[in-house]
Amino acid sequence: MTNSDTATREPGQNASPTVAVLGLGQMGGRLATRLVSAGLSVRVWDRSPAKVGPLVDAGATGTASPAETALGADILLTMLSDGPAVHSVMGDPEGPLAVTEPGTVWLQMSTVGIDWTDQLAGLAGSHGVTFVDAPVSGSIAPAEAGTLLVLASGPVEAQGTVAPVLDALGRRTVWLGPAGAGSRAKLVLNNWLVDLVESIAETLRFAGALGVDPELIIELLEAPIGSPYANDKGRDMLDGDFTPSFALKHAVKDADLALAAAKSAGVELALTQSLIASWHRAVTNGRGDEDLSVVYADGAVSP
Ligand code: NAP
Repeated sequence: MTNSDTATREPGQNASPTVAVLGLGQMGGRLATRLVSAGLSVRVWDRSPAKVGPLVDAGATGTASPAETALGADILLTMLSDGPAVHSVMGDPEGPLAVTEPGTVWLQMSTVGIDWTDQLAGLAGSHGVTFVDAPVSGSIAPAEAGTLLVLASGPVEAQGTVAPVLDALGRRTVWLGPAGAGSRAKLVLNNWLVDLVESIAETLRFAGALGVDPELIIELLEAPIGSPYANDKGRDMLDGDFTPSFALKHAVKDADLALAAAKSAGVELALTQSLIASWHRAVTNGRGDEDLSVVYADGAVSP
């Protein structure tokens, strides 16, 4: 694999492409807003029409269907929940890929795992569309601030085309190789993230059980051994603030994708394996739309 930053873009590319953003959820809405602020021409669509209005107010062009969104767009950016959702929107025979012009690039930023990325890349190829796999690391605050880490992979020729978009969204873009490499790196990072959140939840529960003040434990974890992300999540856990930043249902999806990828690769993810049942149970208990830190409240430890 080779790494390069967005500085290695191709010369002579359209510096202000028209971007179709499909999916205006927690992340997609913020990405679209960033792109409008960066002066790009942005067309937007969401399955829930109510999410389109605020983007239109911000300066985007609202559309009523995925195919309409794609009309005249240089780049199709998908930021939807998971592989099935992306496929249902993009795989529609009368959908966005049916109306693309030659040279269109599909920038797939949802976290969908390895197998779905391969399927979606095949779908793009069958329509003559260039596929860039570009999941992101970072949640809604970095999405709002344009400081995401973009884990990009795909043809070198596409780097220049997507550079104005990725430059507006991220503090850094790392090009990792052929499409699929970004999704592999994303699974590795999110596997670490779910283990970290389970670790802080368990640590705080353990402290409480031993009569040690969990607030004090957060304070003691400040430095040097603590992680700022885990400590922030730990504070939310103690405050009982589970306002979604990264929804538990998506974290469980990523843990499942990581476990499947590990199985295929013949490695064991013992930590993730140990948390997956209780995380699924929290989703079944109706906590999936809350932030993943809710595993502290719903993290019934199996006897
Ligand atoms: P979200 O707020 O739940 O938004 C999901 C989006 O997908 C919404 O636009 C939703 O439409 C749409 N959608 C779901 N199922 C659909 C279907 N069957 N057909 C059409 N549209 C469908 O999720 P998010 O937090 O923005 O995350 C989006 C992606 O980014 C996920 O893959 C997630 O794992 C990844 N990600 C999230 C974060 C984070 O911190 N939040 C960070 C990095 C990566 P509605 O508006 O109608 O619900």
